[in-house]
Amino acid sequence: MQKATSDSSIDRIVQRVRFIASPQEATRLCCPEFSIPEASRMLAEGQLARTTLPVPKRCAWARDPLMVEYHDREWGVPLHDDKRLFELLTLEGAQAGLSWSTILGRRENYRRAFDGFDPEKIAKYTEGDVRRLMGDEGIVRNRLKILSVINNAKRFLEVKKEFGSFDEYVWRFVDYTPIVNRFRELRSIPSSTPVSDRMSRDMKKRGFSFIGSTICYAFMQAAGLVDDHTVDCFRYGMSRRKKSS
Ligand SMILES: [Zn+2]
Repeated sequence: MQKATSDSSIDRIVQRVRFIASPQEATRLCCPEFSIPEASRMLAEGQLARTTLPVPKRCAWARDPLMVEYHDREWGVPLHDDKRLFELLTLEGAQAGLSWSTILGRRENYRRAFDGFDPEKIAKYTEGDVRRLMGDEGIVRNRLKILSVINNAKRFLEVKKEFGSFDEYVWRFVDYTPIVNRFRELRSIPSSTPVSDRMSRDMKKRGFSFIGSTICYAFMQAAGLVDDHTVDCFRYGMSRRKKSS
């Protein structure tokens, strides 16, 4: 009974702020200082005024629930896990010519189809795997893109061997510190920079494919090498806060 009251309170907040995320997500974002049960209890007891809950501002590109979730939890957070870096690199390559929300919506399919983005496994893929992937409706069935993932897995392992980890290799381009920009509007954010040009050139030299400067820059933004949240976004400066904690 108590629980039902709490849940409906949260539902009312969601309606009030016209949130597009789930109630749990809305509560987490509206009251980041409280856990969900704590916020629910306070709402039920009237200690938390619903009308004073602020609606967090976020980058204008994060519109649908999946993009909101991705924006709030992953995009721009400094990433140092090799397998997840490979995942982002692959997804950014798969995106070329398509929308990011299309790719994001298929991420689970990609994880399933590509052995959880394990480069060791992908590097050993055979022509049979290429046929299997070409028949997989859950992913972008573009032969060049599929072959590129297999090629990049091999190059990825070479880099890992040379530098100890891909993480080490890639973060060298920004001296191991996220570049925090100060853009006010989406349209001011570049699609490539001299740093991404350099990364692209180096990766091409090492034999990576689908790795133009624009793809490199999108990867840098996603993996938190660059913080391109607009200054009014509640996630802006997150990479700095993360580092100091
Ligand atoms: Zn943002």
